[in-house]
Amino acid sequence: MFNRSRRDLTRWFTLSMGSILILFASILYYQRSINRLEESDRLLYRKARVMTANIDYEWRQDKERIDLSNVPILGKYSPPSDSNLIYARWYSAKGTLYQFYGRQPADQIQAIAAFETIQAHPEWLRQLTLPVDHNGRTIGYLQIAIPLTDAQVALREMLMVMVITMPLTLGVISLVGWFLSGIAMKPIRNAYAHLQRFTSDASHELRAPLATILSNAQVGLLSPVEAGKPKHIRLENIAEMAKSMNRLVTDLLFLARQGGRLDSNTIQLIHLNDLLKETIATPSIQSAAKHLTLHLELPEENIRINGNADLLQQAIINLLTNACKYTSSKGTVWVRLISQYHRVLIPIEDTGIGISEAGLPHIFERFYRVDEERTRQKGGSGLGLAIAQQIVAAHGGYLTVSSQVGKGSLFQIELPLI
Ligand code: ADP
Repeated sequence: MFNRSRRDLTRWFTLSMGSILILFASILYYQRSINRLEESDRLLYRKARVMTANIDYEWRQDKERIDLSNVPILGKYSPPSDSNLIYARWYSAKGTLYQFYGRQPADQIQAIAAFETIQAHPEWLRQLTLPVDHNGRTIGYLQIAIPLTDAQVALREMLMVMVITMPLTLGVISLVGWFLSGIAMKPIRNAYAHLQRFTSDASHELRAPLATILSNAQVGLLSPVEAGKPKHIRLENIAEMAKSMNRLVTDLLFLARQGGRLDSNTIQLIHLNDLLKETIATPSIQSAAKHLTLHLELPEENIRINGNADLLQQAIINLLTNACKYTSSKGTVWVRLISQYHRVLIPIEDTGIGISEAGLPHIFERFYRVDEERTRQKGGSGLGLAIAQQIVAAHGGYLTVSSQVGKGSLFQIELPLI
């Protein structure tokens, strides 16, 4: 799937870059041809000016007399060896051929267009037809032509270079495209792998309680009707597993739905001192903290923030439950509330088992447990910290952790103060 998308991306990249390249090369080729033609035109015009400057014109006894004998090429002097004129022609004002050098032309002038490109096998010619005026009256037309061979050769060479380099450049472009699409696909690949891992972890988590429910139900069904007691235990097991599955599914749904943003309708003013007191008093925390000492340290002043009270309480409960869960009897858990400049801190510290250095970077990942067996026995699904982190982040805050194995852990919520 990824390779196909990568190939598609490369193909589109090569196609678009190739089109741009071809367009650019065509513009360059066109521009070069125009430049070459302009060069030839300038040369033609210079030659024509020199020739017309040597025309002798006289008006004597109501009769005009045009003398071309001093005109280079057309006159009595033979053309210089470096002259590349293919032909030179003089037509009268009425367009009748009067004198010429080079190829035999038609008797009458064909067209009086200034510059023209003419195909005369085997080469192309550039021709100039220049009307020659005297005292505002056209006395005739000078027509000269030079070959376009040099320009043709130069343009043909340019075309050859383009034809040879174009496939090479396209090859390089597609290689670059392949490399770039690889970079572009990387985050998508990672996200997909993440999703796959998440789906497989979620199914794995659901499969274990389902198997227990199934085996308990099957054994319960096989048990004799009169032996009520064992059947009752089986039913309790089923209910327990169903509860754990329900918790897991609720947590998963929360992570999927909450999506890292707070619904503006649920934002309210929260009195953090009261919220912490309420949280500590909840039956679930009271029962989790039965075996240890739980301290709540609140400041004198009332600290308030804007947020979703239920979600924030959920995050604190998750952290507090963990602190109690992973702290042995006679241990201590502290919950504090500290206001600092523009932020408020809620550190939750315990004297529990701590977290290994290797486990710390992964602690907020979904379904991650430092010690699989141990935490599974404690009823953890590995989603509590991920949920707490998502809630704190949605409030614009941070959740940090520091821990030492055997000494305890410190989870700290940091929120912006209003
Ligand atoms: P769980 O529901 O399994 O507790 P969490 O996401 O809340 O999942 O925690 C992930 C893992 O982090 C736990 O399995 C546990 O190994 C470790 N952990 C979390 N809090 C503490 C703590 N206070 N002390 C020691 N280990 C902890």
